[in-house]
Amino acid sequence: DDDLALLDGVDGGARLEAAARALPVLAVIGRPNVGKSTLVNRILGRREAVVEDKPGVTRDRVSYPAEWSGTHFTLVDTGGWEVDVAGIEARVAEQAEVAIGLADAVLFVVDATVGTTNTDEQVVRLLRKAGKPVVLCANKVDGPAGEADAFALWSLGLGEPYPVSALHGRGTGDLLDAVLDALPEISEHGVLRPDGPRRVALVGRPNVGKSSLLNKVVGAERVVVHEVAGTTRDPVDELVELKGKPWIFVDTAGIRRRVHQTSGADFYASLRTQAAIEKAEVAVVLVDASVKMTEQDTRVISQVVEAGRALVIAYNKWDLMDEDRRPFLEREIEQDLVQVQWAPRVNVSARTGWHTDRLVPALERSLESWDTRISTGRLNAFLGELVAAHPHPVRGGKQPRILFATQASTRPPRFVIFTTGFLDPGYRRYIERRLRETFGFEGTPISISVRVRE
Ligand code: GDP
Ligand code: GDP
Repeated sequence: DDDLALLDGVDGGARLEAAARALPVLAVIGRPNVGKSTLVNRILGRREAVVEDKPGVTRDRVSYPAEWSGTHFTLVDTGGWEVDVAGIEARVAEQAEVAIGLADAVLFVVDATVGTTNTDEQVVRLLRKAGKPVVLCANKVDGPAGEADAFALWSLGLGEPYPVSALHGRGTGDLLDAVLDALPEISEHGVLRPDGPRRVALVGRPNVGKSSLLNKVVGAERVVVHEVAGTTRDPVDELVELKGKPWIFVDTAGIRRRVHQTSGADFYASLRTQAAIEKAEVAVVLVDASVKMTEQDTRVISQVVEAGRALVIAYNKWDLMDEDRRPFLEREIEQDLVQVQWAPRVNVSARTGWHTDRLVPALERSLESWDTRISTGRLNAFLGELVAAHPHPVRGGKQPRILFATQASTRPPRFVIFTTGFLDPGYRRYIERRLRETFGFEGTPISISVRVRE
């Protein structure tokens, strides 16, 4: 799975960097066919159009690193919904609700050539209620003649409609300027207080036992009634005291309220998962231990790693494990979880409560690694020893030298190595492996980026 392999590369580094810096989140919402995907591609400067996806093909990735005028932000793309007439209104509203919840600002796209529909009005009500900044995009204004259509959208009461042609690029500069004005400098979800309650997301594919585990862990404890000073939380979050400390379980509404299995539910689930991960510091990925691991399981794990969050893997339904399955499970762990060998695993049964008390200690271990900072002195001493013991191979008569390294950020730990030439991917993996062996980092992704000094 190249999602996990990305971690080694520059792109993975950039993603982790974005996560660490708590970039503001912009969600693009609107009815199907208004041009959201076209606009997202335009903003990302992608040539390869996702628009070519056939209706019904759902995409699993929903957030992308984006940039305009030197400002970086995270773009959440809610396009890719199945165009299916039945029940579409309800789903657009659901989609909007999730997207609004996770975003710092919303880009609401309307097809100016069609005008507003009841669904649009419904979304406007949600937007008003949420009170988040909104930029209104009047799309498909391909030429001056369409400006009047855009003007009509003032009636939505969302302020100035920006006439845009996502297809041709017309007006997108002004639109993005307005977006930058609407976005806060850093994500509100990203403002993590070191002393506040830690934020946990319970994620995993449907039916793995998220709601059962939530009830077992949270339901058993008294829900903390008093507000912890200085913490803001959404009503969908649950604040509880576990082992004498407050914890916030984020986005629990989606877990408690059973999501109906409509077509497009996969994408919906993926979006909700992404939202929960973005809001959390640590994610517990639940996996059903009694059945074979699926691609969906590894995809959720990749989402956590890519978002740069701490990770705990919980093997649930352990009460259903029979001895015949044990050897298969071991093999699956070796094969499917090789990229995240560093993640603590706990075997639990949400039904019986068996070993659920091991969850909090695992969360604490992962978070501690996520917060870890290695001093520059220690880091360079470590690298000096590493290079002396195992120098970079000579390639075409050249051997890149490592000049200096520093840890640029925590949450998750991100390292920058200055060199005289590109490092082999294999050598980078070697450095990562040695970093983990030396400093631990159990439960956190780490990233290493290389800057070449000519
Ligand atoms: P989504 O479902 O909201 O993501 O919409 P898409 O991006 O898939 O676009 C739906 C259709 O509208 C596609 O055929 C696009 O080529 C077309 N479209 C998107 N933006 C524009 C635009 O600015 N002008 C015109 N004329 N067509 C557009
Ligand atoms: P969710 O969709 O991930 O929230 O999963 P649920 O918590 O709704 O659980 C789905 C089904 O699996 C329900 O019938 C649960 O009773 C069952 N279940 C959850 N955890 C366990 C477990 O540890 N052991 C067993 N045997 N069943 C479980």
